Amino acid sequence: MNVVSKVLPFRVNTHVTTHLIDWDSAPDDPLFRLVFPHRDMLSPQNFARIEKLVMKGASQAEIVAAAQAVRAQLNPHPSGQREKNVPELDGTPAEGFQHKYRETVLYFPARGQTCHAYCTFCFRWAQFVGDTAMKFASKEAEALQRYLRAHPEVTDVLLTGGDPMIMGSHHMAAQIEPLLRPEFDHVRSIRIGTKSLSFWPQRFVTDADADDLLRLIEKATGAGRNLAVMAHINHWREIANPIARTAIRRLRDAGAVIYSQGPLLAGINDDPNIWARNWTEQVQMGIHPYYMFIERDTGPRRFFEVPLHRALDIYRAATQQVSGLARSARGPVMSADPGKVEVIQTEDREGRTRYLLQFLQARDPAQVRRPFWAEGNQDACWFSELSPVLEPSPQTNLRPVNGATILQPGKNQ
Ligand SMILES: *Cc1c(COP(=O)(O)O)cnc(C)c1O
Ligand code: SF4
Repeated sequence: MNVVSKVLPFRVNTHVTTHLIDWDSAPDDPLFRLVFPHRDMLSPQNFARIEKLVMKGASQAEIVAAAQAVRAQLNPHPSGQREKNVPELDGTPAEGFQHKYRETVLYFPARGQTCHAYCTFCFRWAQFVGDTAMKFASKEAEALQRYLRAHPEVTDVLLTGGDPMIMGSHHMAAQIEPLLRPEFDHVRSIRIGTKSLSFWPQRFVTDADADDLLRLIEKATGAGRNLAVMAHINHWREIANPIARTAIRRLRDAGAVIYSQGPLLAGINDDPNIWARNWTEQVQMGIHPYYMFIERDTGPRRFFEVPLHRALDIYRAATQQVSGLARSARGPVMSADPGKVEVIQTEDREGRTRYLLQFLQARDPAQVRRPFWAEGNQDACWFSELSPVLEPSPQTNLRPVNGATILQPGKNQ
């Protein structure tokens, strides 16, 4: 742990250690895996390199330099996030925003750029290890209002991080209250991405300003906005404790709609029964299952990755055993550079595997929901490992989408 946490961010709190982790099953316990470093999260070479420095008592500077070199190999900035999605505001790049899909703008409030604990598989891990180039943080709510005035096509604002629920309620109010004015009536949903239901449900129950947050949510829903809590949940056990249940109850009573999303991860939730139980119990508590993601190609992805064909099997087997209300999660989905790509079907032929894919979101909206085939190895785990198929598939007769740049998944990465 000491060696790995020199490279990857590590943070845990008392809620996670007392209410989530089953210490009798550690280190294999899925919730232990969710936050605690494991030596196999680094390649043997990289592990040995850092271990050697730690063992010989090397200087802090020396360890930091080696750790940075290792991080640079781990694709810290996946899916062109840093370069490609930053929009302009008043003629300059708008720090703290990403605007990739027409309807939805991502807003990164400066005070929300950390989390109560850190997931070992975090796709935004680079911003937690002092990589300031990765910080999307926006300084001010004012900029958000200017941006929304200039973009009447935006229906959804998604506050994200890190975890915006880290912020004090008065800071949250400073971001959200202005958006309730009639001039922003085009903003129908205010979404808040959060892992707090799992890592610190006290935020909504016993924190000193918990009630202020709930009043703010009531105010937003009273003003006609859909206040959507986008809860990051990987395993049903995260919300199987009394305080998390109370938090969910209180959020719903305040008028929030809770959606859940999370990646599929080897050693944590790569089992259809875990997902079926996760979705079923969520629905019972009034949470809408929304996305099952494929783990992004960054950080310790080798440790957590699941081949696409297996991800599809898990998604299907989970879906097949739950009621329609619990089948609302779409997936398995890759949030890749050109868009959110869903895997629909795989078929093996002559040592190659074909993948039937479709965009659920795309930079080019015309590509959405037009299935196309790509080809790759049988154990492909990410969009960049696939390449286009140009002739129709013999089995389904489905042709690839015409003339589209997105026909070249490999090249687009
Ligand atoms: C996923 C995502 C969104 C939201 O997409 P929905 O399908 O509306 O949930 C918005 N922006 C970016 C960059 C995303 O990755
Ligand atoms: S909650 Fe999200 S941003 Fe925070 S550590 Fe986990 S994956 Fe990263």
